[in-house]
Amino acid sequence: MSSPLPHQWRIGIFTSGGDSCGMNSAVRACTRIALRRGAQVFAIKDGFAGMHRGEMVELTWADVAGIMARGGTVIGTARCAEFRSEAGRRVAAMHLAVRGINALVCIGGDGSLTGADTLLREWPAHLAALEAEGKITAAQRAQCDRLHLVGFTGTIDNDMAGTDATIGVWSALTRIVDAIDCLQSTAESHRRCFVVECMGRASGFLSVLAALVTGSEYAIFPEAPPGSPRVDWRDEMCDILRKCRAKSSASVVVVCEGAVDWAGKRIDAAECVRVIEERLGVETRLTVLGHVQRGGVPVPADRYIATMMGARAIDVLMSDMSEPQCVGMAGETTVVLPLRQCVAQCVETGRALKELRFADAEALRCGSHRECMRLWKRLNDYQLALPAAPAAAPLHSLDRRGAALGVKRVAILTCGAPAPGMSACVGTLARLMLTHGHEPIGIRDGFVGLARAATVRGGGIESAAEPLEWFAMRDMMHLGGSALSCNRDVAGKDVTLDSIAVALAVLDISALVVIGGFEGFQSVDNMRRARDRFPQFAMPLFCIPATISCNVPGSDLSIGCDRGLTNLVDAVDKVKQSAVGMRRMFCVEVMGRFCGYLAMLGALCSGAEIALLPENPLRLADLQAALDVTHARFDTAFNDKINGCAVVIKNECAGGDVFTLDVLVNLFESESKGHFDVRKSVLGHLQQGGLPTVVDRFYALRLALACSQRVAGALAVDAADDSAEANAAHNLCEIVGVVKGEPVFTPMEKFDSLVNKALRRPKEQWWLKELAAINETIALPNKDYGRQ
Ligand code: ADP
Repeated sequence: MSSPLPHQWRIGIFTSGGDSCGMNSAVRACTRIALRRGAQVFAIKDGFAGMHRGEMVELTWADVAGIMARGGTVIGTARCAEFRSEAGRRVAAMHLAVRGINALVCIGGDGSLTGADTLLREWPAHLAALEAEGKITAAQRAQCDRLHLVGFTGTIDNDMAGTDATIGVWSALTRIVDAIDCLQSTAESHRRCFVVECMGRASGFLSVLAALVTGSEYAIFPEAPPGSPRVDWRDEMCDILRKCRAKSSASVVVVCEGAVDWAGKRIDAAECVRVIEERLGVETRLTVLGHVQRGGVPVPADRYIATMMGARAIDVLMSDMSEPQCVGMAGETTVVLPLRQCVAQCVETGRALKELRFADAEALRCGSHRECMRLWKRLNDYQLALPAAPAAAPLHSLDRRGAALGVKRVAILTCGAPAPGMSACVGTLARLMLTHGHEPIGIRDGFVGLARAATVRGGGIESAAEPLEWFAMRDMMHLGGSALSCNRDVAGKDVTLDSIAVALAVLDISALVVIGGFEGFQSVDNMRRARDRFPQFAMPLFCIPATISCNVPGSDLSIGCDRGLTNLVDAVDKVKQSAVGMRRMFCVEVMGRFCGYLAMLGALCSGAEIALLPENPLRLADLQAALDVTHARFDTAFNDKINGCAVVIKNECAGGDVFTLDVLVNLFESESKGHFDVRKSVLGHLQQGGLPTVVDRFYALRLALACSQRVAGALAVDAADDSAEANAAHNLCEIVGVVKGEPVFTPMEKFDSLVNKALRRPKEQWWLKELAAINETIALPNKDYGRQ
């Protein structure tokens, strides 16, 4: 049963609890979408504290301009003791009712959402009492007779139920991973060990993922205490460090601030230092990262989830739902769940941890968190069981001692343009294949390198292929490009299938995983199609997407695309700063060939007004619109509040040969009529460079994990088995992806029907319509810009 709509939507937005990077993008998205829908919007300063003090200011479009690149929250956050009492909440209710605020958007943690929900439950009683006491009028009561509430989570801890990620977690992880990457080189130089303490309170997401993506030797986090009820964690930690130090001069232990042992006793990072120094005699240093983890410029991933959740929150709020809802993310997509269910799950997780029911706590964490913990444990258990100095597998084709024991060789190669994170994927996949009892073989130089193995035979194979040894994979996590080296040569086109077939036989390969972009996918598809001619290709074949352009099917994101996006957003942030106080239009050209992913996401995450995509034909009307926006921007009487430039992001192929960047710039310049000037910026290869971001590394891990399980499953099927199921396993050929946060395996047979080969992009692009619509609503001002 739906109740009547409020007379006028007056929405109060507040950020509460600990601050986190990306909250500003959320405030911007909520404000502008709500304004566009005709609502009035108020910023409630400092969360419940401002609600209690009655500190609320109306927001206009221009008030939230230029805030995306700022850390923290521009509307303030605080903890408010008064709000915990009913009397305190009544005072807050009065201030809301006096302003006619009848809807709340709460951006905070589970504590803040609980507080807001409590206010909602008490709302009718508060209004009745306030009217009876003469503190509000009957008309004021009628305006906000019913309170609407929607929430979503901003916290670096990633401890909220119902979402894969909370706002701020990616920026915090970036700070942590940058710090650990820095510590690696000094640790190596001095042969030191570093113990790094991370935030996260009782949530181990930051620490376990940071340890995984930096190749750290050991991690200690609350949901799965180290060691076991029978094995002291100190023994386990030292055992692993001893083994690793025989192979590597640097070691890192990551400790969550809320870590406990199996008896619930706190594990102090300083104690880890003492234990390592005493037992191993290794010089060990403690680095407590502290509040730097909260600060800095929000990374694009946080801006993205904040914008998406903010936009969805207003949709949900104004759909007049009957109970409060919580917006979360499933991978790249928003999801909506009852707020009370999410809060209850958080409370239950806290209780499980307090009662030392660790397995329950682990099971209650979100999917991405659980996946990280599973992966960590798998790798850690294997490392514990390793002999101190495992022998590298011999590569000579005749020397296959392991074959008799069922050990199979899995070839891993990278193909296409190098993408940051490829090496992290190679390293994790290799380690995981070892945990499954198989031999990972790294192929150098893509398919060209593989073909070389056919000619060198026996001696000299090492120039084309190498066994990927456990400890050598440690440093793969933070390498840019591809450590195995790659190129764009396509199997079946630039490299003959005959030579590949011979090479696979010479190397005695049982499964092949190709990590790369379009060329990699085409190569594997060519091999699949040629199986009737080449029985050597009747083996499990897999493709893992890795390209900064994000132009391959089967996965929402590809490894490396976040580095490209981050470089692009960094550049646009700088371009904007360079134009502060000026009237300037910037036209920024970005990579992506015929796929507009980088341009679209770049616009969404940097606040650029216009994204020109190759997917859409560029018409004169679009250019006119870009001009109108820029004129409107600089026309407004309120432009002192806003950043000094308008930004158009143009994909390198958008507009074809007609509307090149130079043509656009000249046209805009002449049509600016001296009102603003126009500059261009071509980012070029800067977009491809740099170390893999946390998101790239995380994707690399997830895809490697999903792929390894699939490969191991297929290899477990008896080669002599001739049944239909066994044949299907022997001939598996799939794209490994992550869609809406879940691993998905797409049969390679579908490749042709999923892509536009001429334009080298998927026919269906999940981001195209929705993101363009959101960006248009948020970034493009109305005509009366600044006055809404
Ligand atoms: P978070 O929202 O990040 O979990 P806190 O738990 O510190 O952060 O909560 C932030 C604020 O929310 C508190 O200062 C308080 O004002 C309010 N709050 C938290 N829990 C409750 C509760 N159970 N009842 C009422 N208000 C609460």
